[in-house]
Amino acid sequence: MLLRHTTAKEIERKALTVNPAKTCQPVGAMYAALGLHGCLPHSHGSQGCCSYHRSALTRHFKEPVMAATSSFSEGSSVFGGSSNLVSAIETIFTVYDPDVIAVHTTCLSETIGDDLTQIVSKANEDGKIPEGKKVIYCNTPSYVGTHITGYSNQLASFIKFFSTATPKKRNVVNLIAGWMEPSDMREIKRIASVMEARVILFPDMSGVLDAPLTGKFEMYPAGGTTQSEMTATGDSKFTIGLGAYSTEDACVKLENKCRVKFEVVEIPIGLKATDRFIVSLSRHANVPVPDSLTEERGRLIDLIADNSKYFWGKRVALFGDPDTLIPLTEYLVTLDMKPVYIVTGTSGKHFDEEMARILKDIPEARFKSGERADMFQLHQWIKQESVDLLIGNSYGKYMARDEQIPFIRLGFPVVDRPGHNFFPYTGYAGATNLAIRILEKFLDHQDRTCNEEKVEFQM
Ligand code: SF4
Repeated sequence: MLLRHTTAKEIERKALTVNPAKTCQPVGAMYAALGLHGCLPHSHGSQGCCSYHRSALTRHFKEPVMAATSSFSEGSSVFGGSSNLVSAIETIFTVYDPDVIAVHTTCLSETIGDDLTQIVSKANEDGKIPEGKKVIYCNTPSYVGTHITGYSNQLASFIKFFSTATPKKRNVVNLIAGWMEPSDMREIKRIASVMEARVILFPDMSGVLDAPLTGKFEMYPAGGTTQSEMTATGDSKFTIGLGAYSTEDACVKLENKCRVKFEVVEIPIGLKATDRFIVSLSRHANVPVPDSLTEERGRLIDLIADNSKYFWGKRVALFGDPDTLIPLTEYLVTLDMKPVYIVTGTSGKHFDEEMARILKDIPEARFKSGERADMFQLHQWIKQESVDLLIGNSYGKYMARDEQIPFIRLGFPVVDRPGHNFFPYTGYAGATNLAIRILEKFLDHQDRTCNEEKVEFQM
């Protein structure tokens, strides 16, 4: 009993969060920066923050995550880190030669009040930024928001520093990827490719955080959205944001700066969200939906129909990021399952409204968002009435073990199992992958726990 102190009885808590369902802003900013080709993320703060953010990403992706730090000392913590950042910029371009440095702040530099605009301008005036190189920056104070906020802020900085409108519009649709795995980005590009839609996907971590082992270290792997692609986003005719929490801000900024209209849809997880994404892409790229995608959809429907008796009525608890949980919960309802407890550490009205809509026919469902929404409370709900399945990141394993609940690892971070960055959860292929994983959990659990006379050879 690893969580033996969790009780079924809830006590009103005003100022205490236990096991929050989130991590800190710079983790998201660092992740997004890695989706830009030739970019080195830079953490403006102490070495400890940078080490934590790098290790959080490295442990999840099982890849080396490169990032630099301003290495605040006691002096810079009191008087500001301006000189540290200016010399860091010079050293980084001299030693590591990135095309772009993406600076994000930390709690410490935000508390001091370091002004990144002024510091980077000074570095530029002092000739520390070589010709053709760029330093971009965003603010990521981690005492507000979550890793999703940091991811969103980094994407907004891409728009601010790169997107440029020229008089020549191009027949291209921008796809802004919400927080998802590199395998999902690969799948979204595959869908766009079979639809013959001309797109610019950003950020794009495929080929960066799932690069093949070649025996040769590449400081800047081949993948990532290029600077010229990012610049050209200002000339695209439309933008589709995938996930409101991660991408809406960037969509709005691009429209304001370059007059590119946009639509925000959910990350295409599950049948309906994938339908909406494909319809949106088809309409805005002015391309038909090919038969091959319709067949993929048909195979998914066949799988769902064949196994509906196993899905029906199963109670599920979920935790993670809102852009993932919204379409995932909808997909579970599509499968005739019952998502009954849903928790996200990222706050926002959109999550609450979407959950109320999706769960309107499941009166026993409970959901909570924001900094007070924690996994301790989720566990208490499970103790009050258990569930058949838990879906979330690796931190859920303790609950799953204590309560003997089948557990699917999905979200960030997944640090105790491999494979999550190989197979997508997006698109019809991803929905099929997810449905099969759910079925395997249920059927394995049934085989393991049912009475001997109930063990079936064929299921
Ligand atoms: S919460 Fe603040 S102090 Fe802690 S690791 Fe994140 S940025 Fe650094």
